[in-house]
Amino acid sequence: MEVDRASRPIDPGILARLQARLDELGGISEEPGRLTRWFQSDAMRRVNQRMIEWGTAAGLVPTVDAIGNVRLRRDSAVVPTPGVPRPLLVLGSHLDTVRDAGRFDGPLGVLTALACVEQLQAWGKVPPFDVEVVGFADEEGLRFQTAYLGSAFYIGQFQEAWLGLRGEEGVTLREVLSHEGGVAESVLAAQRTPDGLIGYLEVHIEQGPHLESVDRAVGVVSAIAAQTRARLLFTGRADHAGTTSMELRRDALCAAAECILAVEAKARSVDGMRATVGQIAVEPSASNVVPATVTLSLDIRHAVDAVLAAAVEQLKLETARLAAVRGIGLRWEILQEGTAVPMDEHLSAVLRSGVERVQRDVPVLVSGAGHDAAVMARVCPVAMLFVRCRGGVSHHPDEFASPTDIAAGLSVLADAVCRLADGDVAVSGKGIR
Ligand SMILES: [Zn+2]
Repeated sequence: MEVDRASRPIDPGILARLQARLDELGGISEEPGRLTRWFQSDAMRRVNQRMIEWGTAAGLVPTVDAIGNVRLRRDSAVVPTPGVPRPLLVLGSHLDTVRDAGRFDGPLGVLTALACVEQLQAWGKVPPFDVEVVGFADEEGLRFQTAYLGSAFYIGQFQEAWLGLRGEEGVTLREVLSHEGGVAESVLAAQRTPDGLIGYLEVHIEQGPHLESVDRAVGVVSAIAAQTRARLLFTGRADHAGTTSMELRRDALCAAAECILAVEAKARSVDGMRATVGQIAVEPSASNVVPATVTLSLDIRHAVDAVLAAAVEQLKLETARLAAVRGIGLRWEILQEGTAVPMDEHLSAVLRSGVERVQRDVPVLVSGAGHDAAVMARVCPVAMLFVRCRGGVSHHPDEFASPTDIAAGLSVLADAVCRLADGDVAVSGKGIR
C-alpha cells in the first residue's frame, strides 16, 4: 500500500536548520543594530554566499545571475526530449529588505523553498521536473524606489529605462551594474525568460492580521490586489487668519479634510477595499495663514480591477464636488495604476489540499501588498501561501512567525510539490492544468 506522503512528518532537523538560517540571515545587515539589505549591497552578497553554501551542501547547483538573484537548481532525473525544455518549477521569494526590517518578510519564502527541496530529498522524492529555489535580489525597491528589479530580470523583463534610476546616495542603477569593469547594457542582454517554466510557488508572511484573527497558521492567496496611487492638488487662497472672515475664505485644507473623509467612507462602503491618505503637504503652513494649497497622497486597492476603477471614478466626482462647493481648485494626478493579479486556480487548489492536512479549514485571502509572484504571473501560473504573523506586524523588527506556523507552511509547500511530482495535476511545458 502506498504510504500517504503528506502524513509523513517534516524532518525536525530540516525545520531546526530553517529556523537557524532565518536567524542567521536576520543578522546580515548593511546597518549596525538593525536589519537593512538593499539591492547590490555587501549584505546581499553575503546572504547570497550563505545561500550558495547551503544549496551546495544540499546537492543543488548554485548560480548568482547578473542582477544578483541567487538560484539553486535541482535537475530532474528525467532525460530531456531533444529540442524540448525540461519543465521547471520555481520556488522562492526575495532576500532584500526594507530599512529596519523584520527577519521573515522575504527570507522566510526563500528558506522554506530550500527546506522543501531538502525534505523532498530526504523522502527520496525525485520530481519529473527541475526545481529552482530563487532568492530575488530586489523586491522592496529600497535603493531605487522601484520594486521587483530581481524578478523582472528573472523573467527577462528588466527595462533599459531603469538604468537611469538614481538612488538616495546619488548613484545610478547603471553605475551600480557597471561595477568591476562590466557594462550595464551587457547585464541586460543576459536576461531571458527561463525555459520550460511551469509554475511559481511563494511562501510569505501575511503582513496583515487576518490569519491571527481566525486562529489559523496558514492561508491561500486568491489574488494580489490592484493598486492605484494618485496625488490630489487643492488650490485655494492664502489669507490673513485674523482679518479674513470665515465666509470669504478659500481654505484648501478644509476642502482636503472633507475629501480625506470621503476617501475613507468610500473604502468602508466597498467590501475588501482599502484606501489611505498617508501624506499631506500644506502651503504656506503657517499658524496664522489660511492654507493656500494642499497636496494629498492617495493609495487605493481592491482585488477586482473594475471595482477599483469604479471607486476611483466616483471619488474623482465626489472630491471635485466637495472642492467646488468651497471654491477650491482640484487636480488629480494618477501616479500608478496596477492591475490585480489573480493566482492560478490549479496551483492554488494544490496548496489548498495541503492546507487541509495541517488545519481544519483553508482561509482564502487577498494580498493587499505586492509580491514577486505578481511579476512571475506574467510568464507562468503562480500561487502563494501566507503564514500567520504576530499582530499582523511587518516591515518592522517585531515581525514574527512562530516555528509551528513555519512548520505548517513548509509542510504545505512540500506536500504541494509532491502532488505536482505525482501528477495529481497535469504538468506540461505550457504550465499546470
Ligand atoms: Zn516581501
